Amino acid sequence: MRLDRYLSNRGIGTRKEVRALIKHGRVTVNDRTVLDPAYKLSDKDVVKVDGKVIDLPEKVYILFYKPAGYVTSTRDPHSETIMEFLPDIKGIFPVGRLDKDAEGLLLVTNDGEFAHRVISPRWKVEKEYVVKVEGEITEDKLEKLRRGVSLRDGFFAKAKHVEKISNDTVKIVITEGKYHQVKRMMAAVGLKTIHLKRVRIGGLRLPQEMKPGEYRFLSEEEVRQVF
Ligand code: URA
Repeated sequence: MRLDRYLSNRGIGTRKEVRALIKHGRVTVNDRTVLDPAYKLSDKDVVKVDGKVIDLPEKVYILFYKPAGYVTSTRDPHSETIMEFLPDIKGIFPVGRLDKDAEGLLLVTNDGEFAHRVISPRWKVEKEYVVKVEGEITEDKLEKLRRGVSLRDGFFAKAKHVEKISNDTVKIVITEGKYHQVKRMMAAVGLKTIHLKRVRIGGLRLPQEMKPGEYRFLSEEEVRQVF
């Protein structure tokens, strides 16, 4: 793997930032300064930044802005998956799902226990969506979503919070993550979802400045913010 990619995969910084570190002579490979960001590393090489060995932390937590048009899966024989945007780290997987046509905040990790807590309805981690719909958003429909609607499979889905934010857009907060849940809840009150974006998971918001396809590693404090 290239030296710049290796460092950015380990959360040292963006590609641009790690290239600057390398150019400034702060990176060594086997204790020799390397100034070429494209330097090819082998498995046994020891990389240091400012004299400190850079190793992959055992657990990684990634905040990813999923773009629409990609499948939330590590592999798919027919479609492009989110993995092509993410660093090449063994064992990482998406925490829950966003539909192919949906976009927004998706967590990616190699920590199964963390993923379970985020997804499990028992922990009631809030997921906030901004939904653009077709159809009239009446107060009556909003009230029904707040009181709860029965979906076709018998699941009773109740929004934690529902708010009209414009003539065609609703903000909805749920704590479960059933298949197509938001779209099915909207459909249950006669609203067709045209665009779906997840903007928050627990206490963690999709950063305003992020663009679809971008990711960054979470700090320990940010990981705690989820719960
Ligand atoms: N609800 C949906 O309908 N789709 C998603 O991707 C997430 C929640």
